Amino acid sequence: MRKAGNVMDLQDRNLELLLEIIRNHDDVSRQDLAEKSGLSPAGVSKLVSLLISKGIVYEDALVSRRKGRRAIRLRINRDAMYAVGVRFARQYVKCGLFNVKGELFHPSYEPLQNFTVKQTLDLMVDMVTETLRECGEMRERVVGIGISAPGPLLAREGKIALISNSPGWRNICLTKAIEEQLGIPTFLEHDANASVLAEKWFGKGTASNCLVFITVGQGVGAGILINGSIFSGNLNVAGEIGHTTIDYNGPLCDCGNRGCLEMYSSSLALVRRAQELARDKQPPGWPKAEELSPEKVFALARNGDTAAQELIRRAGRFMGIGVVNVINTYNPDMIILGDEMAEAGEPWLQAIKEVVDQRVIPELQKETIIELSELAIEPAFLGAGALVIKRAFGTLSRLPNNAVTSVKNA
Ligand SMILES: [Zn+2]
Repeated sequence: MRKAGNVMDLQDRNLELLLEIIRNHDDVSRQDLAEKSGLSPAGVSKLVSLLISKGIVYEDALVSRRKGRRAIRLRINRDAMYAVGVRFARQYVKCGLFNVKGELFHPSYEPLQNFTVKQTLDLMVDMVTETLRECGEMRERVVGIGISAPGPLLAREGKIALISNSPGWRNICLTKAIEEQLGIPTFLEHDANASVLAEKWFGKGTASNCLVFITVGQGVGAGILINGSIFSGNLNVAGEIGHTTIDYNGPLCDCGNRGCLEMYSSSLALVRRAQELARDKQPPGWPKAEELSPEKVFALARNGDTAAQELIRRAGRFMGIGVVNVINTYNPDMIILGDEMAEAGEPWLQAIKEVVDQRVIPELQKETIIELSELAIEPAFLGAGALVIKRAFGTLSRLPNNAVTSVKNA
């Protein structure tokens, strides 16, 4: 039994590898696949037949090859399966249907105010139900629901461990309630992990082998993707860089630690600092302290307000320290920054890069590309769908032919 399982696992890994290549290249033949994957031509042929029989890949027109040889082009069936993606942020929920190529259908958005656990769960169920209703025939090919949420969370158990600054959000199981009500396999993933997957599949990180995505919103977290796999640690809590100490005497954080990175570099920290400034000095042209938001600070900065510009640079310098720690810990070839603070744009990124230039050993400085995310769909939303598709890709050999259905217990 065990042996059979291992053979199956190996086949699934090879199928996933081939799908990755076909998904990334629009014009690929069986011969190209053998060259790019390192698998034997006979092995590739067998696996491609399996992918075709399951309706995931199809043969397209003949393409001309080197030396006048012609080969059959393989294409991924973008509508072979769908995933419902749910982005649960602190202020809103987004829901929609994604296909294999990350195209979004029937998107919806609902704001969250004083989000209680029950209110949030009910809202998610309603939104997913509505998406499934709207998607009509596509419903048959929905392989799962993916939820991206702020951490720390225990993905395997579908449980949110803690959302800082949010009373009631401790040790909350999200997936079970949704699965029970809707009867569809449901997966929870850290928003940073979902984001790094979205960048690897559809964004700037397609060529990266060691990619880190840092979400800098109300919290700060990192998703780490090494050779195509998310590095999740023992309990899937790896990448919680927001709770690494940058001042060991600093203020107490909800996590129990002191002087955590996110207390200085998050959008909450930015607003807190801006509010202090507004109360102390009320700079000309500023709204009242309680009306300040990250967007308002960014707008002030864009309009030339030097106090707002300095607040953004200051938050960027603190974030730079976090980025230095990430570089020293994981040695990534690329770091992509996203979420709320990334809306501050180039001045924020420059402040981060200045700190990196000052503090990272010179040999590493030029070896890590640091950029802002530019995906058209919010990466934590897109990644919520992609993680379900990735999971389905990883268990393909166990699925019946031409009938891609639920993958949870495959
Ligand atoms: Zn903390």
